[in-house]
Amino acid sequence: MLVDLHVHLRGTLVRETVLFLAERNAVSIPEAILADARYGWHDFATFLKAYDLVTSVVKSAADLEVITTSYLKRCAELGGGYVEFMLSPPDLARTGVPFPDQLKALTAAADRAAEEWGVRSRLIATAVRHLGPRAAVEAARMATSIQSDMLVGFGLTGDEHQHEVGEFAEAFNIARGEGLRATAHAGEHRPADTIIEAIELLGLDRVGHGIRAVESPDVMRQLAEARMPLEVCLGSNLALGLYRSVAEHPVGRMVDAGCAIVLGTDDPGFFGTDLAREHALALEADPRLGIEAVSTNAIAAAFCDEHTKNSLAHMLDSRLRSNQDILAT
Ligand SMILES: [Zn+2]
Repeated sequence: MLVDLHVHLRGTLVRETVLFLAERNAVSIPEAILADARYGWHDFATFLKAYDLVTSVVKSAADLEVITTSYLKRCAELGGGYVEFMLSPPDLARTGVPFPDQLKALTAAADRAAEEWGVRSRLIATAVRHLGPRAAVEAARMATSIQSDMLVGFGLTGDEHQHEVGEFAEAFNIARGEGLRATAHAGEHRPADTIIEAIELLGLDRVGHGIRAVESPDVMRQLAEARMPLEVCLGSNLALGLYRSVAEHPVGRMVDAGCAIVLGTDDPGFFGTDLAREHALALEADPRLGIEAVSTNAIAAAFCDEHTKNSLAHMLDSRLRSNQDILAT
């Protein structure tokens, strides 16, 4: 039973869904972009451009329901049992889709996926770092304006080089004050000490990426002592060229230091990855990162309620036992 704790909802868009929504919403996407498995990007700047272009096909709450359902179905086929999506409420609100409507669409997709394919999911509302702290406060207010079992967390995405992390403390205080759990991208593009800074200033329960922790034994020790879950996304790191190969990836050294590793697909539609591949890459990087170890960490680190965690733990246990049965026969 696999768990995806770091995935941007609009980053899950696969070609088939892009074509469907482009036609439905009369959006024109160049054939050269669609013909390429990675939507034609080749570096971080062109990735951001391709991302804006491809995700522009998502216009309505009904579109969100389509992409959520589509991703959860694929996850279930790969052995996935639980997903936490990231979505920035103001993105679609600006174009006339109120956050309660977005949430209703996601909840409908989540309910269907749980019922039909046995895969559960929740939402983390996010602020976008490069849009600045005022927009982050707006995102936090929007996220906390409605009570929903679906919405469990608040996060910070976007360009780590823009703004100091402490500028986002107000937004996180609003979100955490209403009971949302907290995560933020940190230590993907900036050095190890920025991870500790983000944890302390934003009150994080998890860290998005955090891979540059490996550059500081002191930071790794602090993360290990706190059992702070790090949402590692190997396929994303490789696709963006942060590391040239799995052998170079630092996740094994993070395990050596005692860090709690969980996995995410990040933007799987753009990085040519999926949940099964992330697990395969993790296992290739370090044999201690098998499904049982990683999924146990992930269930502990998930932002959902205890009842859901218990049923995920039960699902993991029964799938592991049935796998052993297959191996034994
Ligand atoms: Zn991410």
